[in-house]
Amino acid sequence: MISTILPARPKKRLFLGLLLVTEFLMALMLYGAWKISYLGLENIFEYLPAIFGAFLIFISTFSFGALCNMVLAVKGLPTLKLFHRYSFAIIKFLFPVAVRIGKIFGIKRRQLEGSFIAVSNLIFMKSKIKVPAKKLLVLAPHCLQLAGCPHKITRDPNNCKRCGGCNIGDLMKLSDELGFVFFVATGGTLARQVVIKNRPQAVLAIACERDLMSGIQDVFPLPAVGVLNIRPNGPCYNTRVDIDEVKRTLSQIIEN
Ligand code: SF4
Repeated sequence: MISTILPARPKKRLFLGLLLVTEFLMALMLYGAWKISYLGLENIFEYLPAIFGAFLIFISTFSFGALCNMVLAVKGLPTLKLFHRYSFAIIKFLFPVAVRIGKIFGIKRRQLEGSFIAVSNLIFMKSKIKVPAKKLLVLAPHCLQLAGCPHKITRDPNNCKRCGGCNIGDLMKLSDELGFVFFVATGGTLARQVVIKNRPQAVLAIACERDLMSGIQDVFPLPAVGVLNIRPNGPCYNTRVDIDEVKRTLSQIIEN
């Protein structure tokens, strides 16, 4: 039964809370760096400490604003578009520090990545993005294919015989039925090439937490929604996906 092996639903506030703590600590560190460098800067130029201080205040305020914007988006409140395009850049910068801080509290990297995906998906859904089926690209990882399957599907997923041995066949059937572009990617580089070649208006990616986290950020500003794969046999081997969850997500993205 798939329901017994589904990953636990990640908490959105975990990611946002930890990022806000990280932001606060970074601001403190920047203040410390400014204090330490004050005299040296003043020796170079009288107004340099003030200029440097103003720059650090601007960076801290801006990134704090972008994080608050995400909190507003998650709460369903109006957000400022200005912050949208910088949100992922700020996450990329703060995330490695957040992972280290999380470790102190016993929070695993995967939990944080899962929480990021939950936040990102919620923002995607609240944006009410709808695209025609042929402008939606669905990307699946190669490990979703049954390891013993002799058919080469990474160049052309149509080589799948839809035998029911793995979820690739289910996704192919859905693609035939609904008309979205489906591709199986062996890695981030190939996934990016497929995105460039197909020029979709939105992406639905199926992958593990780590790959979804980097993938969603990589394709930005293209809207992307993630569905976590299920790993009953450990990572990267005969993985599965909850097809009902994929169907639910597709119904929310594809225009009627
Ligand atoms: S569904 Fe397709 S990819 Fe999966 S085992 Fe059957 S033929 Fe191979």
